[in-house]
Amino acid sequence: MASKFIYECSDCGLQIPAGDIIYLCPECSARQLPGQPPLGVLKVIYDYPVLSKLSFRELEENKFLHLLPVNELKSFPNLRVGQTPLYEINSLDGATHDFELYLKDDSQNPTFSFKDRASAVVSAFAKENGIDTIAAASTGNAGSSLAGICASQGQKAVIFVPASAPKAKLTQIMMYGALLVPVDGNYDKAFDLSIAASKRFGWYNRNTAYNPLTIEGKKTVSFEIYSQMKEHLPDFVFVPVGDGVIISGVYKGFEDLLLLGIIEKMPIIVAVQASGSSNLIDNIGKEEFRSTPSHTIADSISVDIPRNFNMAAAYLIKYHGQTITVTDDDILKASSILARNTGIFTEPAAAAAFAGFLDHKSRNLVPKASTNVVLLTGCGLKDLNSVQSLFELPQPVSPDMVSVEKFLTGKI
Ligand SMILES: *Cc1c(COP(=O)(O)O)cnc(C)c1O
Repeated sequence: MASKFIYECSDCGLQIPAGDIIYLCPECSARQLPGQPPLGVLKVIYDYPVLSKLSFRELEENKFLHLLPVNELKSFPNLRVGQTPLYEINSLDGATHDFELYLKDDSQNPTFSFKDRASAVVSAFAKENGIDTIAAASTGNAGSSLAGICASQGQKAVIFVPASAPKAKLTQIMMYGALLVPVDGNYDKAFDLSIAASKRFGWYNRNTAYNPLTIEGKKTVSFEIYSQMKEHLPDFVFVPVGDGVIISGVYKGFEDLLLLGIIEKMPIIVAVQASGSSNLIDNIGKEEFRSTPSHTIADSISVDIPRNFNMAAAYLIKYHGQTITVTDDDILKASSILARNTGIFTEPAAAAAFAGFLDHKSRNLVPKASTNVVLLTGCGLKDLNSVQSLFELPQPVSPDMVSVEKFLTGKI
């Protein structure tokens, strides 16, 4: 069967037929310089003129399979990946607002992060291509996601992580039965090692901004937002950014809809980074990429060299995206505001997107009647340590009413 898609290099535009497994553009990746963001990340391109005959509803009825690099729905995991809730929030801290605020809660994925969208597509592709072992390097979520998705599909996962990853994420990887390779080094070291090991042992590799299919999974969030907003576009989408793959996925999803003539304009995508890890935002439009060592409590967006820098920067420039940085303090505050107002407890990277929204709001950058979507990418239980500074657990009371009354004094 002829493949329904081809690859196109996001740097030089070279088109490559889909056939053998391929990762980066061979020509651009050969020009790769050390210490610089990867060159030659590939984009998946479909036959848009043919697909534009289908309506959005027809595409959706088929679970967007026409726009995915997978042939059959039964190749996907038997878990509910994506299809996450979009909640409308009408007030914050008791104050109603004159705009619309929606939270896309991707902490509701099977392994509690957005990364399941990518893992599901990579795993389905592997299944259709007779591959039984998939490797990945990860700061935690991509690894725990791949481990969980592979567990559901009877596939083997080999996960390379910096040994310093949060314990909950490492625990998930072990519980899902994956082979965990903690690396005494940072994410970049784990990344390179996982690629070398994949070549050496013949594994399929899911690394982000290396395997072109991850973006195809990530883009599904845009289809869902459009569907959940009753085939309307939001004005703004706030996205937390580390390597820049999620934001590229968000753009790719809306861009597919543009190319199909389903929508006519691109929403304003707001890239939010931690101020201690803003290498993507800081380098947009610069002649030469310069990396500053990253320090932030938001481990999932703590990145020295954003792996998908070139594609994310090109999207932000082309579609007039906005950028914003938030401090760790902003992130912690936003996390607490979000949890106590909505009942959604996110990990710091996800809270960063909400902090970005709150920052826009405080600077009167959220227009009246505008529709705003904040992408919540991961669950708070994945990283309990980082929020410990927000409170102290109360001391236990003696089991009698006098002690309870004393305890409650000033609290009720
Ligand atoms: C991976 C991740 C991000 C950032 O995605 P990038 O593609 O690296 O920009 C944000 N939030 C969470 C929870 C993540 O796991």
